[in-house]
Amino acid sequence: MDFTFSEEQEQVRDMVRRFCATEMAPLVFEAEETETFPREMFRKWGELGLLGVRYPADDGGSGMDKVSDCIIREEMSYVSQAFSSSWSAHSHLGIWPIWRAGTDDQKERFFKPALAGEKIAAFGLSEPDVGSNIRALKTRAEKVEGGWRINGAKMYITNSPIADFMLLAARTDPEISPKSISLFIVELPNDGFQINSLKKEGIRASETGLIYIEDAFVPDDCLLGAETGTYPIILESLTENRVGVAANSLGIARAAMDASISYARERAIGSRKVGDFQAIQHKIADMAAEIEAAKWLVYYGAWRVDNDTLDQATASKVKLIASETALRATEQAIRIHGGAGIMREYPVGRFHRDALVYVIGEGTSEVQRNLIARSLELSS
Ligand SMILES: Cc1cc2nc3c(=O)[nH]c(=O)nc-3n(C[C@H](O)[C@H](O)[C@H](O)COP(=O)(O)OP(=O)(O)OC[C@H]3O[C@@H](n4cnc5c(N)ncnc54)[C@H](O)[C@@H]3O)c2cc1C
Repeated sequence: MDFTFSEEQEQVRDMVRRFCATEMAPLVFEAEETETFPREMFRKWGELGLLGVRYPADDGGSGMDKVSDCIIREEMSYVSQAFSSSWSAHSHLGIWPIWRAGTDDQKERFFKPALAGEKIAAFGLSEPDVGSNIRALKTRAEKVEGGWRINGAKMYITNSPIADFMLLAARTDPEISPKSISLFIVELPNDGFQINSLKKEGIRASETGLIYIEDAFVPDDCLLGAETGTYPIILESLTENRVGVAANSLGIARAAMDASISYARERAIGSRKVGDFQAIQHKIADMAAEIEAAKWLVYYGAWRVDNDTLDQATASKVKLIASETALRATEQAIRIHGGAGIMREYPVGRFHRDALVYVIGEGTSEVQRNLIARSLELSS
């Protein structure tokens, strides 16, 4: 076993760390306070090749492995989980199915401009009445002349208030089966789409929408892949992305630990530094140990992706452990900061609110446990 990152992977980390510190970090506070994502960031990511990390160079991507993808996510989330979520919803969930199943025309019109950051993508799967149980989604697409008429609603869709197009999952047949779910590429704005921005506790700088869809028309050439065959692609992209968001969680956990160490070293109570107290040292020691464990589980998951051996249960284990580790670490960081931990001028409150997002989004911890339990064949 070799746990060292390659020279190329270390270079990627250095490059992204520099970019995040100089280009992203100065924008984070204002974006969080105004709950507005700075759109120009997509172009900057595009120029640097950060929107095409997982796509081959022949298709215009940067052709990086999953380990590098996780390094990038870790570094981005260290600075802002909100920015990183917008990036992930665009560059992974929002365009990956087009790369996998799109026609040449769809790739030209949507995938390529998205890689350059000229168009922003969103991925619309979750619904108000159907959260965790995606197979039961209700949004309906009916065949009409020249295209499809869509009715329904989508909930908590990242980037939707700023998106130029959205991948939309809809039922093309009332029967509840994987074959009856298809993906459509919907150009925005669309007369039948009403997108309402949601106010959030976590990842405030990432814009999220609740969407009502009434008699929206989508032309035939915007149906993705064969009409009955896109559900496996949705599952594939969700499984790989669970390892990705675990890397995001790792980034926030590290940020919380580093902030705690700095604070514990600097904050004096009378003649003693907070870091002199053994109770505080133990909290930080626990963080360090748990983060180390989560780190190697994340990169093991990434290695499994790179070796084409990732299974659903492993992806769930990786996400469960990393996201819950981040939640614990960020809560401890607030305690270590005392009252300052509650103040917005310190980042640890934001870290904790942001860490909550990934014990819920991309499948809750309970759903991950269900998937792990299913793999253990506990039920008769
Ligand atoms: C900030 C944010 C951004 C998001 N971005 C997107 C996006 O871009 N695109 C998208 O499609 N979705 C997105 N989501 C939706 C996200 O994937 C869902 O919130 C998540 O799948 C949970 O669904 P729900 O919120 O409806 O919860 P529910 O399914 O209503 O769950 C409520 C509770 O019940 C539990 N529960 C549900 N089913 C079971 C079960 N079978 N066994 C045990 N417990 C269960 C859950 O774990 C949870 O604790 C986003 C969510 C958030 C918060």
